Amino acid sequence: MAEQEGSGLQVLLRTLQNSSDRASILAILQVLADLLSVGTDRRIRYMISKGGSEALLQTLVDTARTASPDYDILLPLFRLLTKVGLRDKKFGQKALELEALDVTLILARKNLSHSQNLLHCLWALRVFASSVTTGAMLGINGAMELLFKVIPPYTRKRTWMIRAATEVLAALLKSKSNSRRAVNRGYVTSLLRLHQDWHGHDTANAFVLIRRALLLCLKHIAALRSGREAFLAAQGMEILFSTTQNALDDRSLEPVISVALQVLRQCYPKSPLPLVAASSAYAFPARGSLPSEPPRVPAEEDFEDEGDEEEDKDSDSEDAKEEDDDLETDVSKLSGKPGLDRPEEELAQYEAMCLELSCSFEELEAKPRDDMNAEEAEHAAHHHIPAAASPKPQHLRKDQSSRGPEREDTVRTPLLGMVKRGRSTGQPASRKGPGMNPYQNAQSNGLGVDSSGNEILDILAFLREDTWDVDMTSCPRMRDSFSDSTGSRDTADVIDRLLQTHPQHAPFHDPRVYLAKARGTRSVADFQTMAFPDLWGHCPAPSPEPMLERKRGIQRIKIFEDIRRFIQSGDIINKVVFSLDEPWQNTATSCLRFSSKFESGNLRKAIQVREFEYDLLVNTDVNSTQYQQWFNFKVSGMRAAVPYRFNIINCEKPNSQFNYGMQPTMYSVKEALLGRPTWKRTGYEICYYKNHYRESTAVTGGASRKCYYTLTFAVTFPHSEDVCYLAYHYPYTYTALMTHLDILRKSVNPRKVYFRQEVLCQTLGGNPCPLVTITAMPESVSADHLEQFRQRPYHVLTARVHPGESNASWVMKGTLEFLVSSDPVARLLRENFIFKIIPMLNPDGVINGNHRCSLRGEDLNRQWLAPRPQLQPTIYHAKGLLYYLRSIGHSPVVFCDFHGHSQKKNVFVYGCSIKETLWQAEPAVGTSAVLEDVSYRTLPKILDKVAPAFTMSSCSFLVEKSRASTARVVVWREMGVPRSYTMESSYCGCNQGPYQGLQFGTRDLEEMGAMFCLGLLILELKSVSCSCQLLTRAAALLGAEDEALDHHLQRCAQTADEEGGRDAGAQAGLPTAAAQTDPGQTKEETLPSKVFSPLRGSFSGRCQRWSVPRRRARLGLKGLQGTQ
Ligand SMILES: [Zn+2]
Repeated sequence: MAEQEGSGLQVLLRTLQNSSDRASILAILQVLADLLSVGTDRRIRYMISKGGSEALLQTLVDTARTASPDYDILLPLFRLLTKVGLRDKKFGQKALELEALDVTLILARKNLSHSQNLLHCLWALRVFASSVTTGAMLGINGAMELLFKVIPPYTRKRTWMIRAATEVLAALLKSKSNSRRAVNRGYVTSLLRLHQDWHGHDTANAFVLIRRALLLCLKHIAALRSGREAFLAAQGMEILFSTTQNALDDRSLEPVISVALQVLRQCYPKSPLPLVAASSAYAFPARGSLPSEPPRVPAEEDFEDEGDEEEDKDSDSEDAKEEDDDLETDVSKLSGKPGLDRPEEELAQYEAMCLELSCSFEELEAKPRDDMNAEEAEHAAHHHIPAAASPKPQHLRKDQSSRGPEREDTVRTPLLGMVKRGRSTGQPASRKGPGMNPYQNAQSNGLGVDSSGNEILDILAFLREDTWDVDMTSCPRMRDSFSDSTGSRDTADVIDRLLQTHPQHAPFHDPRVYLAKARGTRSVADFQTMAFPDLWGHCPAPSPEPMLERKRGIQRIKIFEDIRRFIQSGDIINKVVFSLDEPWQNTATSCLRFSSKFESGNLRKAIQVREFEYDLLVNTDVNSTQYQQWFNFKVSGMRAAVPYRFNIINCEKPNSQFNYGMQPTMYSVKEALLGRPTWKRTGYEICYYKNHYRESTAVTGGASRKCYYTLTFAVTFPHSEDVCYLAYHYPYTYTALMTHLDILRKSVNPRKVYFRQEVLCQTLGGNPCPLVTITAMPESVSADHLEQFRQRPYHVLTARVHPGESNASWVMKGTLEFLVSSDPVARLLRENFIFKIIPMLNPDGVINGNHRCSLRGEDLNRQWLAPRPQLQPTIYHAKGLLYYLRSIGHSPVVFCDFHGHSQKKNVFVYGCSIKETLWQAEPAVGTSAVLEDVSYRTLPKILDKVAPAFTMSSCSFLVEKSRASTARVVVWREMGVPRSYTMESSYCGCNQGPYQGLQFGTRDLEEMGAMFCLGLLILELKSVSCSCQLLTRAAALLGAEDEALDHHLQRCAQTADEEGGRDAGAQAGLPTAAAQTDPGQTKEETLPSKVFSPLRGSFSGRCQRWSVPRRRARLGLKGLQGTQ
């Protein structure tokens, strides 16, 4: 059938090509038209494959070349040609070869006054011009001149034909040579006139498509540098700007406005950033040769990017997909690589960092000291655990009576109350538009809001004098003969006075401790001032903060405001009001005052653009020319209730969560002194887009030039003459960490909690990098208890290798506070594990306001393969500590490095899997031969069930080549830790789960840190090595009334009786009777009474049947598969 059709069609086409009989030709054309008028594109493509295009083109040429062309043939022929040509990719080329271009142009010229014939010619030309080469040929043959004769000023006649002509012209101008010709012949001016004329007269918007096509012509010309110059010379910016201003709100003009904006953005003159140097304002004489900068982003040439306006709405492109060709496919590089990157003797030094293994704990023998009220201290800690705020679930209360007096069972476990439900979310206020002011109440009352008048006067005095700002918090360093410094005593006095009048209650924070710690912090720029929020402390926002709803068209409005600077410069001030590069004395009173010379501060320059608008430039990382993302600066001298616009104009990433609901954070000093010391999400009219700044050619040596992006946001400050801090994300400094660790250490009961802080190493900048060890003290100094203590497996957690990822520090803060708390889950964890925590792998970067790097301008999370003690000390010693743990048979069960993610939402992990990597890279390759422990999936699955912010769906277990030197991959491969992770927390918030639609607050991040710990406990419960004692106690805690659980525990006990007593118990050399003396095993008759062993794992064989089926549906654990 198909063959017959094929042969029939071929006969028709051959006849058409060879026949000179008018009737036959007309008949065949009719048949072909009928054939193509129904059915799908497949028919057309079939016809093309049988030589349809050539036959039609040949017929066209033959017919057109006769003395008086027959339009009865030509018109249906053109219609067919158009239809076929649109589907034939080589149509332009075929037309060129068969000389159909010339005849069509000739026909068009002959028919300038004959609309119908001309329209048909134009249709054909439009199809020809879809090939750039053919388009160029048409241009050479005068097609553009012809078209300009056809396109008149505004008229309501022959508009079908005019539209076709403008569209042909736009298609022709895609060719560079045509664009160049158009510039040379002055067509830019002609096009602008046509645009003005049509735009001005077409008030009914009846001819939007003609107007759009005219602008597309300009857009294509503007892709050429000479085109942009001609456009500027012809006052194109002014013309397009003014013609579009009155049409911005008209939806029917959307197609016109969007192209006009593209042209304006393209033609806005590009300029280098207003900075004296591309390198950082801070220099650090780093040891060794500095790393070369990574390769540049794609080049900008004469034909630059489309300049398309970024999508206004949230889109799929938010999650950039990982490149498959980055996946590691070399199996040898995916396999374990045991061995050392240093002499074995070197590992001995880490013994001193694991003193828990050699400690005799003699102090446990001593009587408790009088000055230590242990219980009190513990309760104090309990109050502050990050999860403490939420209600406890009913079911736990219910079974307290049956659980007896054991502490774990009676202490409420607030953390569990929040499992996958999150804290009480309340009713988030809706946030839209500029009317929103989160401080409305405070502002309406001004500072008179507080009832105690005297205090307010004090505050006003403080702020008026601005003294606290400059002097009071100045912080001379220890080395400047601190003891003699009256200035520092003043500082302490002032803090005391402030604390007397304004009590602050930031948990685990104390300004006096902070002051003491700040004196030890060393910065490259030798900061002398402390940031008030850091000193004073932060309390989490009282209610959750929803993502900002994006105002429609906000990006367009902001871009037009930027373009207006060029067109209407009347109100443009353009005055530098702050700069790190020039010694600065800003005396102007009519503008904001800026500062960033404090820890984690980052602002390089501020330029007042208009009265209430500022362009800001952030500093690159020290010893680098890039990584501008983190910002954190102080601003003062503001007026309340006035919207200020801030533009950070040297951002680098091509997209940002600021386009998808994220807001920056702000801390008001006046608010803090009024009892609300809180970093809050703030700002509206937020968007992020490519601007007109390009990297200076002086920097690139004339090579490709990097583009920059603007983050713009508006802020309405809560008070006049306040001092506010604005930051990319909730800041968390090194000094804050050291303060926190100090207070944590003092908060624990040293007889129960082993909390040890030591120095992993000194950083390049001379700051000690802390290492924290947390576990439970041994129950007693008996040999058994000490043995149990020393057999505890390790977990190793690290954070903040990337200084701009302060969210990672908040998660770590939650982890630390939870681990020392009296929460029963935390107790179980301490009693069964030893935690080694390096909470800040890059203190120098954090202190100096870097976003990504160390003081050498290196990404430290790309240095794990071969770190060197002089160049990357924290990485070198973190790796050394892991080597040491491995060498003594204590490789961590879990290694996790906490990070922040700027492009995605939620919290998720990256892990490592050979199989998944190979399968993803080459699905065809069988991976069944590869043996792999799949336990890496268990922890994320658990977190997905328990942690409200966590989602498995964003997790990935692929090993990328570009990540070969990250902590995750190196610890996995070189240390043989299957559960080696990077945990990423969004800067923004969640789009799933109970926190869907909310931005993260510090409380959520801290909760994630606590939930991670719960995940570690459940992971252990699912492990074959889990002791039945732990199972029993955890069961009581996690869901004891669950009968299924009891059932399984019983089965576990029976199994133990039947088999374990003979096997595992004997292997461990333990008398099974030891179980009966278990102090923790006395109350629950239904639970196993003979399976206890103080030795972890000694009954592992018995518990293998514990496969965690169906248990704890309430905890959302159903469906977890036992994976070992
Ligand atoms: Zn990171």
